[in-house]
Amino acid sequence: MDIPESVKTFFKKHSKSIKTGLIGFSIIAAGTGIYYVSQDSPEQLQASLVAAEQNVEINSFPVVVPNIKYGFALDTFQVFDHTIENGQFLADILMAYKLDYPSVEKVVANSKDIFDVKHLRVGKPYTILTKDSTAQADYFIYEPSVYEYVVFHLKDDFKVERFERPMTSEVHTAAGTLESSLWNAIVGQGLSYDLASKMEDALQWSVDFHHLQKNDEFRLIYDQNFIEGEEVGIGAVHAAYYKTGSNEYHAIYYDNGEISGYFDLEGQPMKRGFLKAPVKYSRISSYYNLNRFHPILKRRRPHYGTDYAAPYGTPIYAVGDGVVSRASYTKGNGNFVKIKHDATYETQYLHMQKFAKGIAPGVHVKQGQVIGYVGSTGLATGPHVCFRFWKNGKQVNHLKIKFPPAKPLPAEDMPAFEALRDKYLAELNAAKPAVAEENTQTEVVTEEENTKDSKKESDNSSNP
Ligand SMILES: [Zn+2]
Repeated sequence: MDIPESVKTFFKKHSKSIKTGLIGFSIIAAGTGIYYVSQDSPEQLQASLVAAEQNVEINSFPVVVPNIKYGFALDTFQVFDHTIENGQFLADILMAYKLDYPSVEKVVANSKDIFDVKHLRVGKPYTILTKDSTAQADYFIYEPSVYEYVVFHLKDDFKVERFERPMTSEVHTAAGTLESSLWNAIVGQGLSYDLASKMEDALQWSVDFHHLQKNDEFRLIYDQNFIEGEEVGIGAVHAAYYKTGSNEYHAIYYDNGEISGYFDLEGQPMKRGFLKAPVKYSRISSYYNLNRFHPILKRRRPHYGTDYAAPYGTPIYAVGDGVVSRASYTKGNGNFVKIKHDATYETQYLHMQKFAKGIAPGVHVKQGQVIGYVGSTGLATGPHVCFRFWKNGKQVNHLKIKFPPAKPLPAEDMPAFEALRDKYLAELNAAKPAVAEENTQTEVVTEEENTKDSKKESDNSSNP
């Protein structure tokens, strides 16, 4: 039997999904079956992949499954798969498959309210189905996107139908360690990079994704969307874990119908403002004032910060999660730390006696973490912190900025939240990186190590 080249190509292209997509297939069969039954005879239903006998991969597949696409048993047709080329119109395509001009006009007229044929886009796939390639083709099928396709009947009634493909989703987990980049850690496992942006959505208030470090770890629970067994995108991220240095962050998505969003393990919203002040038990000794008389310089000089007077050695806290961008000394500032919180906000802490242990540029800090101690280094008359708040690169009066209040979940929500959290935590702890098909032996060792690590995680153990 002579199998047309395009059919072979189709099977080559799709054999992997046919082989691996058995579960997906049973889901979509329900969706496409409706069209199938209405368009094809029972004999065609019996058609099998045997036609592709030359394809080793399919032959190794023990179950005979009809190769159905667009509601048609493809192996009962000659199948021509193409993509729209530059300057190509529907008429060009159809006339190449032996349609005469009146037939083209009929199908174009029938498509009017269903699909505008002027919207064929370069690079989009289309398929021609024909029973007999010496005669007029039977169907032209165009896919504007993976989510839908349009079937043009090229005989009899010349009708045009548009079908949405049913999307299904499965809850998946992912895990990884950053060796070189987040991209490699995700795409290197064959996962969609979409995941990175969804993870960032969940953790953006805690983790600065512009300053990731080698050996950072992530774990995710998310919806993987499928159409006809093929992965088509990432849905919601239900829970996310990120570890950078010794800091661990969790984001749990919770929705009670009124309140929804990401919360940390204690039910505090991930989206949070800043601490009101960088030191406890302090008093404000000087306010932000653009027209202030400087006590040491003895001249008018704007004061871009708020001074908090406190005894030497009083701990100074990071007012929000972020990454240390500076930890250095200048004559005016003395020992100072600057923290980048996100694309908009930075904070700066001046005149420190000394930095807290481990505080250096690039280090991630959490809201409330001690970053240094009150002193009077630089231009300072006595022990205080000059606290400076930067918004879009400009110093502003943080006491005048209104931040969204960080309201914890209501107490009555906590039991439901905690149950959800614990379920997700167990799933996150069990999440493993995708195992490459090759190197099965080495991967087994790695998996064992990972399992040990996830058990130790609560002890804050360091990475391998
Ligand atoms: Zn000051």
